[in-house]
Amino acid sequence: MRCPYCSSLDTQVKDSRPTDDSSAIRRRRVCPDCGGRFTTFERVQLRELMVVKRSGRRIPFERDKLVRSIEVALRKRPVEPERVERMINGIVRQLESLGDGDIPSATIGELVMEGLKALDDVAYVRFASVYKNFREAKDFENLLGELSGPEEDLAAARKASSREPS
Ligand SMILES: [Zn+2]
Repeated sequence: MRCPYCSSLDTQVKDSRPTDDSSAIRRRRVCPDCGGRFTTFERVQLRELMVVKRSGRRIPFERDKLVRSIEVALRKRPVEPERVERMINGIVRQLESLGDGDIPSATIGELVMEGLKALDDVAYVRFASVYKNFREAKDFENLLGELSGPEEDLAAARKASSREPS
């Protein structure tokens, strides 16, 4: 596993244990070259999920992309990484159970908003507002633009905000 700090390929596993729900193995790794520490998760991939964009284009679902957009929403929020991991596992399990493996991109956005709402109000509002306005927020566009087309984002954000208690 390549070190995310210095790109060395020579990293070592220091500790290895199942996550709380036993759906994954969590490994603590250390890089002997720079001393950097990081965590990796090993998990079952049942099948290839495809995201269907509004244009009809199908792209492979990437868990990392989902994780990054959620991490941006949760930046500096006091939420335990294990809870975030459980939420992401839950979203992926729901996606896997949806049927034939083709997922409308708006469905992913809605699941993320539901998950964040239960986890942290501030992160939820951040994600929802970015989801709605991402065309103006260039750094989010790269993350979310791959998940959804703009029209779907607007629809999903409106739907989510109408569910939000005032
Ligand atoms: Zn390193």
